[in-house]
Amino acid sequence: MSLLVIGSAAFDSIQTPCGSRNRVIGGSGVYAAYAASFFTPARLVSVVGEDWPEAYTERLHKRAIDLEGLEVRSGVQTLSWTGRYFENLNERETLEIRLNVMGEEYRPLVPGPYRDSQFVLLANGSPVSHLDLLSKMTAKPRLTVADTMDFYIQNTPEPLRKLLRQIDGLILNDSEARLLTDEKNTITAARRILDMGPAFVIVKKGENGAFYISKAQGASAEIRLIPAFPSEKVIDPTGAGDSFAGALMGALAAKGKSDPESIIAAMARATVVASFNVEGFSLERLETLTGDEIESRLSAFRTMITF
Ligand code: AMP
Repeated sequence: MSLLVIGSAAFDSIQTPCGSRNRVIGGSGVYAAYAASFFTPARLVSVVGEDWPEAYTERLHKRAIDLEGLEVRSGVQTLSWTGRYFENLNERETLEIRLNVMGEEYRPLVPGPYRDSQFVLLANGSPVSHLDLLSKMTAKPRLTVADTMDFYIQNTPEPLRKLLRQIDGLILNDSEARLLTDEKNTITAARRILDMGPAFVIVKKGENGAFYISKAQGASAEIRLIPAFPSEKVIDPTGAGDSFAGALMGALAAKGKSDPESIIAAMARATVVASFNVEGFSLERLETLTGDEIESRLSAFRTMITF
């Protein structure tokens, strides 16, 4: 089944201890759709300005990504983000964010054929745009998962609260979970988020992996842990979260499944794809990645976590 992804398409300028890049292709929607495309065809809803190079669109065309939903607006500029990573590569600071065409008022154009998508990923972006996209769907999708970040938790809290009541799952990192709930303990914070609406929450903890928590009681465990893949080559962590979310939803859409066990299995695949993504700047590593490489790392990962 196809996966509908809404998210940013951006120019990223990145500094890491391994080097730097200026105005390379990035954005939450770009990373997520690209990662998803290893598992299932992805439909990307996003918007760019007149400065967006055709060559960047071509790079996305090389994968199974439907770009009918990629709007190009004249007279405006593409979102641009500048970030710097610290020596440990786990922390970063945003040096500059220019939302430009993706400002809070961005109302996505959703092509007709996308509107009955069963699997929807609301990759990092304004909850106002996410709500607008959901209002344009012809029926409630089978699985709607959103990703969010500190920027939207701080700047658009009310639309985010409303969105939480309309989604099935939320993905965010541990500091964001604490920020959203004012709780110091990450597990308590995740439980508080469950009270806000979603049936499950996936909390990412960087090199400490991720956990899944759900309201489900009984047979299926309420909390499940997936460690991070122990990478020795980390060049640029940008897009790790987005490629995790994209691969997770791509793997679920490919199987047409949304039950807890399938979500846990998809988290393992998502962890593996994210571990490849950080091996290069921008899309550099994902552009050479093959399905065989994913399968072989997945099988090594499975051996590592089985006891
Ligand atoms: P990640 O490293 O997974 O957290 O995602 C980084 C990506 O998010 C970069 O490619 C940025 O272009 C994009 N990004 C940064 N800030 C925003 C924002 N406010 N809205 C949407 N996308 C953003």
